[in-house]
Amino acid sequence: MKITAIEAIPFAIDYRKPLRFASGEVHRAEHVLVRVHTDDGVIGSAEAPPRPFTYGETQRGIVAVVEDVFAPQVVGLTLLQREVIHHRMARTVGNPTAKSAIDMAVWDALGRTLRLPVSDLLGGFTDRMRVSHMLGFDEPAAMVAEAEKVVECHGIRTFKVKVGRRPVGLDTAVVRALRERFGDTVELYVDGNRGWTASESLRAMREMADLDLLFAEELNPADDVLGRRWLVQHLDVPMIADESAPTPADVTREVLGGSASAVSIKTARTGFTDSTRVHHLAAGLGLEVVLGNQIDGQVGTACAVAFGAAYELTSRRAGELSNFLDLDDDLLTEPLRITDGELVVRQSPGIGFEIDDEKLARYRLDRD
Ligand SMILES: [Mg+2]
Repeated sequence: MKITAIEAIPFAIDYRKPLRFASGEVHRAEHVLVRVHTDDGVIGSAEAPPRPFTYGETQRGIVAVVEDVFAPQVVGLTLLQREVIHHRMARTVGNPTAKSAIDMAVWDALGRTLRLPVSDLLGGFTDRMRVSHMLGFDEPAAMVAEAEKVVECHGIRTFKVKVGRRPVGLDTAVVRALRERFGDTVELYVDGNRGWTASESLRAMREMADLDLLFAEELNPADDVLGRRWLVQHLDVPMIADESAPTPADVTREVLGGSASAVSIKTARTGFTDSTRVHHLAAGLGLEVVLGNQIDGQVGTACAVAFGAAYELTSRRAGELSNFLDLDDDLLTEPLRITDGELVVRQSPGIGFEIDDEKLARYRLDRD
């Protein structure tokens, strides 16, 4: 179970349709596949999706920090020393997806070594999750048309609507159009990616007061400290902290400071080890949890559903597990499938996927 090497392989896969939201847009998945090798010949894998406009990580930066900073501190430890691995990587501030991909690849290698599913090792609550689909910026009619397609093709009935544009009325018109089209057959919530001010946020939420929203996420900037507290006090739905709370300590600070009343867990950002810490914190405080999406590919989505299904709290709500549908291709031998609005955790050793060597050779950027 001794870790002998860690690889960081940059790869790129195009999106069929770019995803647009208040803090950026994505045309191409430029991710890093992290692979942990052991002296038993086992390889554990996970992916790091850089989000330069949110956390400052880039594809090249992730490769460099894994190869130059983290791998030398982790190689030589065993798969059972996950807390030592976490402690050593935590000395470096930031780099959330690089650390998380190493953490999850170690868990994948552990599951493969023990011949057990990681989801069962983590908690084993269920084997599936309901799926929530993110609707990126477009005109109201186009966003309704996309939702219709997603309902029809995949049976998904929960939508996170990206908001945070100006005029505010453009976004509220989208949410109203969705509610009018689908009635009470769908669940809706909104994510502003910090695009509005506190007062714009409250005005928008009041305009949508009759639309039965589940949550509001990151409507205004995290640095707007008093504005966020004021907003949380005035909203009648939980306000989810997402990019404002990327670590367990940030979640504590945001929630105890009254700036958030629910939390988004993203395995791409907190791996399995820190996601477990956030989960336990949320369970202890009685917070609502949404399993979020860091614009993950299929490897990242398999990680997310393995974690989400492991606990009652994370599987209670639909998880954001459908972003990969917009990607042109992926790296798995057996692609993930959303059926009747659900994604099932594969009951195979590890996280539940196999990397297709031919596809990796096609999409990797570090070899000619
Ligand atoms: Mg968000």
